[in-house]
Amino acid sequence: MTIRLFDTTLRDGTQREGVTLTTEDKIRIARELDALGLHYVEAGFPASNPKDLEFFENFDAAELDNARLVAFTRARRPGGRAEDDPAVTLLPRLSAPGACIVAKTWKLHVEKVLNTTPEENLQSVRDTVAYLVAASKEVIFDAEHYFDGFRNDPEHALEVLRSAAEAGATTLVLCDTNGGTLPTELKAVVGRTVREFPDVEIGIHTHNDSGCGVANALAAVEAGATHVQGTINGIGERCGNCDLVTTIANLQLKMGLKVLDDERLQRLTETSNYVSELMNLTPDSHRPYVGHSAFAHKGGLHMDGIARDPATYEHVAPERVGNVRRTPVGELSGKNSIRAKAEELGLEAGDIAAVLSAIKQREYEGYHYEAADASLALLIGRTTGEAQPLFELETLRIISEKRADGQTNTEATIKLFVKGQRVISTAEGNGPVNALDRALRQAIGPHYPELKEIHLSNYKVRILDEHRATAATTRVLIDSTDGKRVWGAVGVGENIIEASWEALVDGLEYGVNSTEKG
Ligand SMILES: [Zn+2]
Repeated sequence: MTIRLFDTTLRDGTQREGVTLTTEDKIRIARELDALGLHYVEAGFPASNPKDLEFFENFDAAELDNARLVAFTRARRPGGRAEDDPAVTLLPRLSAPGACIVAKTWKLHVEKVLNTTPEENLQSVRDTVAYLVAASKEVIFDAEHYFDGFRNDPEHALEVLRSAAEAGATTLVLCDTNGGTLPTELKAVVGRTVREFPDVEIGIHTHNDSGCGVANALAAVEAGATHVQGTINGIGERCGNCDLVTTIANLQLKMGLKVLDDERLQRLTETSNYVSELMNLTPDSHRPYVGHSAFAHKGGLHMDGIARDPATYEHVAPERVGNVRRTPVGELSGKNSIRAKAEELGLEAGDIAAVLSAIKQREYEGYHYEAADASLALLIGRTTGEAQPLFELETLRIISEKRADGQTNTEATIKLFVKGQRVISTAEGNGPVNALDRALRQAIGPHYPELKEIHLSNYKVRILDEHRATAATTRVLIDSTDGKRVWGAVGVGENIIEASWEALVDGLEYGVNSTEKG
């Protein structure tokens, strides 16, 4: 059985609150999805907004090696004609070979939202599908609210599908638009529908409002669906869409359905991070399969088991999805975990006892290395002399000025030595960390071109008071990324600037050094 993967990150996914993508971002994501080996990339609803139209007008579908580019639209308006409806006639002008047409299957919507009759709704489906098939498009039909419609009036819901199939749609996609259906019911409805349409491909499009987005997609496949729609990381409106990343891994590694080549499956982690990055969303470290913590083993007992045989505490091997096994170092760690950590980071462990006592001392001071791999690698590297600082600081100074008109200006000045040269650099920023980051990059950037690819992706501050009664200690965690990997660095100080500076420098130093190593 062949399963076709249909990605709608660039259409349904962009409905998520707070997400905006430029045309350039969309092109980069489309290329990434193509490289992952997905079969269809739905890139927008060009009739609904000028930005999506700009994408389709500027991007030639032939640039994708594997995926078919799909443009989305709705069925023609009730009472009109497909050839007079601009939302429909736009599609033949575009290079995208696929057209995804959405129409209503739930009578409640037909009558209350479209204000039309079920018969006119069927006619609109027939006209629109036939028009686009005649224009040589591959028509994928999205049956909106299919499960609610089926519950309410199965005959009408099936009739809508039949109209689309008879007019030439190649795939009938059953949509759980409100995301409220549970797997048992969904599976039964999909099974019944598959039996009604033995010659047409049946697809599934689920939302996660009941927390069953992925489970429902898998249940649909078990019931005979062969086309699966979803978004990378489950990004979408409200609670999101079916997460295609988890779905792909489950289909291939658990259900034995070959959906991607093995080498492509190994790109899954990178694709997931890349899309989060371009959407300016902090990647959730606990995502199934691809999260930074998905294969992190903390407890001593677990680590012991993993050392004997990874299958003892891992459901699949992390490499298969391009992730890595991690052994976070915490207060409970012993020498073995330091050795394992050094190996994982590609370092000589050197004097393990010295490293361990340095970690314990720093943890007492308030450092925390579980989310700060970069600082830990540097700590190990510094005890062995392997880590070389990028520069030597002379002084740094920050001026923050709040003006009567409400504006705040922050300026940082750094004096340092880099590769034997003394540099003085001043930069403005929207806050002290931003100003420091800019001034530092300005000073050392010419010596380290890799820095251009590295930027800060997350900044977290925690006030710790368990150590001292009077002066509180501040711990700062900074995540940095080069768009493919994410690493964390930690800084601690009585002063937030000092703590931020330490984490900032560690993040950049680790980024530069690990890029050099390749
Ligand atoms: Zn949807």
